[in-house]
Amino acid sequence: MSGQLNLVVLGKQGAGKGTQSQLLCERYGLAHISTGDILRAAVQAGTTLGNEVKSVLDAGQLVSDNLVNKLVEDRFKEPDAVKGAVLDGFPRNTGQAQALGRLLGEGGIRLCIYIDLANELVIQRLSSRRVCQECGMTYKDTDPAAISGTCEVCGGDVVQRSDDTPDVIAKRLETFERDTFPLLSFYESRDLLVKVNGDQPVETVSAAIDELLHSRGLV
Ligand code: AMP
Repeated sequence: MSGQLNLVVLGKQGAGKGTQSQLLCERYGLAHISTGDILRAAVQAGTTLGNEVKSVLDAGQLVSDNLVNKLVEDRFKEPDAVKGAVLDGFPRNTGQAQALGRLLGEGGIRLCIYIDLANELVIQRLSSRRVCQECGMTYKDTDPAAISGTCEVCGGDVVQRSDDTPDVIAKRLETFERDTFPLLSFYESRDLLVKVNGDQPVETVSAAIDELLHSRGLV
């Protein structure tokens, strides 16, 4: 596993994890492993898994560790993960980080990138976020694609995520502080943590991440 480039992208909802993970995957030929996307796709398709987790997602809570650990383990077996993966939205708590450590082994995670964003900005960004149900492209509520409801990339429906509502956003921020925040010390103590200011344009954040990868000799 040590020849692979496996990266963890951490951050509150709306900090830009999805966008930056996507860019990293395109640039370095890595698999994008987003547990949130996998779970939402299952809900939308009405699979057994989807029906099982729908109410948990709608309440802004975390689904069980066993379930997501298994999803990630299976996802790593797909061919696009051969060079490595960007983990987006996983791990979400210390138990999941330990499970990931066991799955990939010593040195399996090369870097954890924390995209930092203040709560007020998270609330602002998420309330105005609209997402394509097909390809996951995100828009602001004032963008033409959001107003017309049609994605400019794939023609899919552009909607508001059911968990991007004020009460669920508050709940998700609470869940982040309680369960996910401790992961910063988890990765820092292993000298794997770097932080990036998320309150900057997408290209600036992306360039900062790239520089960190170069400075650590990872790319
Ligand atoms: P996200 O798109 O990453 O914000 O995830 C959306 C929702 O999916 C979360 O609010 C959780 O309910 C669920 N979820 C995603 N990833 C995980 C995870 N690693 N552990 C538990 N639940 C998760």
